[in-house]
Amino acid sequence: MSLVLDHDSNCLFCKIAAGKIPSRVVYEDAEFFAFHDIHPWAPVHFLIIPKLHIPSMAQVTAEHAALMGRMMALVPQLAAKEGCNPYPQGGFRLVTNTGAEGGQEVQHLHFHVMGGPRPWLRG
Ligand code: 5GP
Ligand code: ZN
Repeated sequence: MSLVLDHDSNCLFCKIAAGKIPSRVVYEDAEFFAFHDIHPWAPVHFLIIPKLHIPSMAQVTAEHAALMGRMMALVPQLAAKEGCNPYPQGGFRLVTNTGAEGGQEVQHLHFHVMGGPRPWLRG
């Protein structure tokens, strides 16, 4: 059976995207949800997720190419909206932890977007 689901009722980020668990919302459309990380590493630190329950980058295939492209295109738009300073003096860090050895804790694909003046707590 595919690990990619429309929605997994046991998944923390599916619950956040559905508004069942509160979050500080950055952005929402039909396909994506973005919200502030509960333990920010940087002055700006938010997560972008697809509403589709893809457990991690390890399950991404060519079938998801257009979706992933639209997710990537949200990054600079939302980074600017959330106060990341302009490139090249500013910029942001984009991170996707994948699997246990990749440091992934929540098993729903997410992009961390971090930015703002350094020093940062981590990252
Ligand atoms: P990972 O380690 O899987 O790449 O990152 C998961 C991220 O989700 C962590 O940075 C963690 O702080 C964040 N996180 C975990 N639980 C919650 C939550 O309930 N709400 C929010 N907003 N962020 C969460
Ligand atoms: Zn999920």
